[in-house]
Amino acid sequence: MKLSIGHLYPELFNLYGDRGNVQCLLKRLQWRGIDAGVTVLPAGEKIDFNGLDIICWGGGSDRGQEMAAGYLRETRDDFRGYVEDGGVVLAVCAAFQLLGNYYRTEKRTIEGLGILDIRTEWKPGRLVGNAVLDSPLFSAPVVGFENHAGRTEIGDYTPLGKVLFGYGNTGKGDNEGLVYRNLIATYLHGPLLPKNPEVCDWLLERALRRKYGKEIVLEPLPDVQERRVNRNIVERFTTCQAGGGEKAGNRDVRGGRR
Ligand code: GLN
Repeated sequence: MKLSIGHLYPELFNLYGDRGNVQCLLKRLQWRGIDAGVTVLPAGEKIDFNGLDIICWGGGSDRGQEMAAGYLRETRDDFRGYVEDGGVVLAVCAAFQLLGNYYRTEKRTIEGLGILDIRTEWKPGRLVGNAVLDSPLFSAPVVGFENHAGRTEIGDYTPLGKVLFGYGNTGKGDNEGLVYRNLIATYLHGPLLPKNPEVCDWLLERALRRKYGKEIVLEPLPDVQERRVNRNIVERFTTCQAGGGEKAGNRDVRGGRR
């Protein structure tokens, strides 16, 4: 078995070490003796979605988003076809926004790919801090770090999780990210996957099943350190905390108000 991981526009989208997500996907396959290769998809070059099993797309600046939106416009139909066919995607922050209809900033409206029927509006006051989610897909809480000015309305899509601590999609601290077919979109950096190995394995399992058959189940890895880190973060940010959102404020119990 072999999976091909496409790293989309790494030169424009690598906030907070989002490229660590690619490393994590690769390593967790290799540790199980499964072959994997990374194909860098440089900005402006044509993308062949046929050979790809997972697309990893990180966060970036508004300026990077504007450039990427232009480059990606011509691949929109192929990209949509890949997603609708169950192609696996991890889209973080700026990528989450660009998969939607638009990202309206203070100065301009960046037209998105329209693969997801969602909208993002810039508002003053960046939403910055650690976040903890309760997701029905995973046994451990999902943890990460968010920093965005865009607020995203996801309509009827299934959120990735309910916010236990942090701001989430709209800043109200109700829900975060979304899951659609084999795509996870989220505001969480971290990078996300090394901090949340279950999320990584969810993506890998879906990619393997799409390619090699529905019965594939990944053998568990020990993840001793990963679990410990996750537990520490959850304890640090959810003990003595009353929910998330702008009203509650993103308080770090050790570091005070952010
Ligand atoms: N530019 C977007 C925002 O501020 C995305 C930022 C990011 O990718 N962290 O909302």
